[in-house]
Amino acid sequence: MHAIGIDIGGTKVAGALVDELGTIIREDRVPTSRDADEIETAVVEMIARLKDDAEPVAAGVAAAGFIDAAQSTVYYAPNIAWRNEPLREKLETRTGMPIVIENDANAAGWAEFRFGAGRLVSDMVILTIGTGVGGAIVSEDKLFRGGFGTGAEIGHMRVVPGGLPCGCGARGCIEQYGSGRALQRYANELADQGGIGQVLADVRTRTGTLRGADIGDLIQRRDPGALAALRQLGDWLGQACASLGAVLDPQMFVFGGGVAAAGDLLLEPIRASYLENLPARGYHPEPEFRIAELVNDAGVVGAADLARLHAESH
Ligand SMILES: [Zn+2]
Repeated sequence: MHAIGIDIGGTKVAGALVDELGTIIREDRVPTSRDADEIETAVVEMIARLKDDAEPVAAGVAAAGFIDAAQSTVYYAPNIAWRNEPLREKLETRTGMPIVIENDANAAGWAEFRFGAGRLVSDMVILTIGTGVGGAIVSEDKLFRGGFGTGAEIGHMRVVPGGLPCGCGARGCIEQYGSGRALQRYANELADQGGIGQVLADVRTRTGTLRGADIGDLIQRRDPGALAALRQLGDWLGQACASLGAVLDPQMFVFGGGVAAAGDLLLEPIRASYLENLPARGYHPEPEFRIAELVNDAGVVGAADLARLHAESH
C-alpha cells in the first residue's frame, strides 16, 4: 500500500509517493511560501499531483513545531504563522484523504528507524547535528511523542545549568554545545589560540570567516585543530548520550545532519565520552553508535510511513 509524505521545510515543500518498503515512487517539490494559507494550498495541490492514478491510503505531513498527541493540531510552528492550527481537519476536508501531522524531526527519525540504521533494533535515539541539534526517540518499536505530543526535543535537554542562552529561551541546552554552530565556535576559539589551531587561523585569515564547510574540509584532511574542535563537540554529545542512555536505554544512537559527514571521526569521541560519563559503567550493555543512512528524503519517507501505519490501524 502506498502513502504520501510531505515535508514542509524552511525553503521547500517536498513530497513523495512512497511504498511500504520506503521506496519513493515519484516526488515533487515547490518553494515554501511565507504565507500560511498559501502553504496549506501548496500541500493540497501537491497531494493531488502525487496521488494521480495511484490509490494512496493516507498522507503524512511533517513540519517543524509542536504537534498535539492526536497528530492533528499544530500548537506552534517556529517558521509559519500556525498557532493552535487544526491542520489535519483542514487538509482532510480539502483532500478527502486521511491525514496525519507529524513533527519533522520525528518523521525523519522514524524513517531512519524503519528503513535505515535502526531497522534491526527496537529502541533507538537519533540526534541530527546541523545548525542546531534535533532528534527523535523510538522506544519499544514506537515513536516517542510524550503525553502532550511535544516530547523528544533532544536539542533542548539542559547539559549546563545557567549555561549559554539558547534560541528556545532557556540556558545551557545541548544545542548550544553539540551543534554545527558550536563546532564553529570551538574552531574559532582554537584559531584564536594558535598552536594546533594555526591552520584554522590561516583559513580564517584567508577567507574572512571559518565556515562550516571549511571546518568539514579540514576534518577530512585530518587537520589537528579541526579534529580537536570535533572532539570537543563529540565530548558534549557523548555526555548527552550518557544521560539519554540512563533514561531510555536504547540499543543504538544514530547521528545525522551535516556534521555527521565526519563519520567515525565524530563517533569515536562521542563513544569515549559516553563510556566515561555512563552511570555504573562496565555493567551496562553498550549501545551501537552509527551514522544515519538516509540523507535527503528521510522526512517525506517517514511521514508517509507513519500515515500508512496510522491508516492501517484505524
Ligand atoms: Zn534550548
